[in-house]
Amino acid sequence: MFGGANFESEMGLEYFRVFPWIDFVVPGEAEGVLIPLMKSLEKNEPIPNGVAHRSDGGIVFAENHELHEDFSDNAPPDYDDFFEQLRQIDPDSSLLENPVILYETARGCWWGEKHHCTFCGLNATTMKFRSKPMEQVHADISYLSQRYNSFRFRLVDNILEMKYIEGIFGEMARNNFDLQFFLEVKSNLTKQQIKLLAHGGANVIQPGIESFSMNQLLEMDKGVRPLQNILCMKWAMYYGVEVNWNILIGFPGETDEDYRQQIQLVKLLLHLPPPECVGDLWLERFSPYYTRPEEYGVTITGPGEAYPYVYDSEDIDLFRIAYDFEFTTQNEIDPALKKELTETVQKWKARHQSDDLPYLFFTKSMNFVTVYDDRSIGNPNKNRFEGAPAWIIVFCNESPKTMDQIKKHAQGLGAEEAAAEQEVLQLEKMGILYGEKGKYLTLALPHNANL
Ligand code: SF4
Repeated sequence: MFGGANFESEMGLEYFRVFPWIDFVVPGEAEGVLIPLMKSLEKNEPIPNGVAHRSDGGIVFAENHELHEDFSDNAPPDYDDFFEQLRQIDPDSSLLENPVILYETARGCWWGEKHHCTFCGLNATTMKFRSKPMEQVHADISYLSQRYNSFRFRLVDNILEMKYIEGIFGEMARNNFDLQFFLEVKSNLTKQQIKLLAHGGANVIQPGIESFSMNQLLEMDKGVRPLQNILCMKWAMYYGVEVNWNILIGFPGETDEDYRQQIQLVKLLLHLPPPECVGDLWLERFSPYYTRPEEYGVTITGPGEAYPYVYDSEDIDLFRIAYDFEFTTQNEIDPALKKELTETVQKWKARHQSDDLPYLFFTKSMNFVTVYDDRSIGNPNKNRFEGAPAWIIVFCNESPKTMDQIKKHAQGLGAEEAAAEQEVLQLEKMGILYGEKGKYLTLALPHNANL
């Protein structure tokens, strides 16, 4: 019997068609059908909906449209067999020491329900967001930690249930537990949320940064702007949370100008954690690019190029089993710009792997602020600011502020509005503030460790 992500929807049905040794395929969620299937086999009764099976030489399949909504009956995952077998194979395996425990708290995506990211094929028919009650998550983690003698967890969810930030991670933080978590989040987190996650044990996050180009993020329908991505990376770095991310390129609507802007912005961000790589987007099954290619100017030209090497039978329809596809768009981006972006990112990574770690931070006294900037190689500099620029750096530190907010703040401190505006523009020019659509954020990290 087969199921799971690679057997979802028509992929599972095609595998079932061409491999006669498979008895059953569940091409969707299985919780609701497994027990009825076992009972029907035991009592020789009709096979329930949601299970592809064979009858009189043909294939029978009726869809099960019910989503698994109620997790409260789900037991915590049982890894006993895995660890027992591992111990038999290799009693000294490093995997046995403080093992990483995989745990699912939620299914679907609350962002994708409203705006499906155009490249994302993670949720086929299961986009509806469903999460476990907090008491259950807490009890399961407690049980799994004790049973497998582990402090390390990897949440396998597409996106974090936002109420867990306070309810689960806040609770972990208040109890000073030493558990560690990997989790996928949307990047529009606030400083306070990142602080709570960090203190609650989130030591690695994957925030779906994807790009620092406004147009490319809009093209993806990602629901975040470069400014929010920067804020997320800044505070994750401050609180010691590792950020896993990539720059995605190859979107159908992207332009040369998007590349130029992103390259310029990246040069201001060298003190923040670099991406793993710059990579072309995959055209994934179930994504809007797959389901509505004509809407985006995408032409799907075939299954991913690896498939024929894996399945060489003429009988198998690779289009039906493929999860990723080859495609073309009308776009012609200047290859020199792609190369420049890739090389800029490679240098960014190299700096972070060297002894010459780039930095941009500020220290604050009563009447002045000093900014230490070593983003450009071999040219570290130190600038002391007094008056308006000093308090603008501090005022825009935690979250982006509008020019109006900055001016109002200036008035409160007895400074002139026009002067404040000039100072903002000057700080932006120096790459100490980043401005986007009338909002400004201090790019420098605070040196003070108590925020
Ligand atoms: S990329 Fe992430 S946020 Fe976007 S729809 Fe997919 S799971 Fe949701």
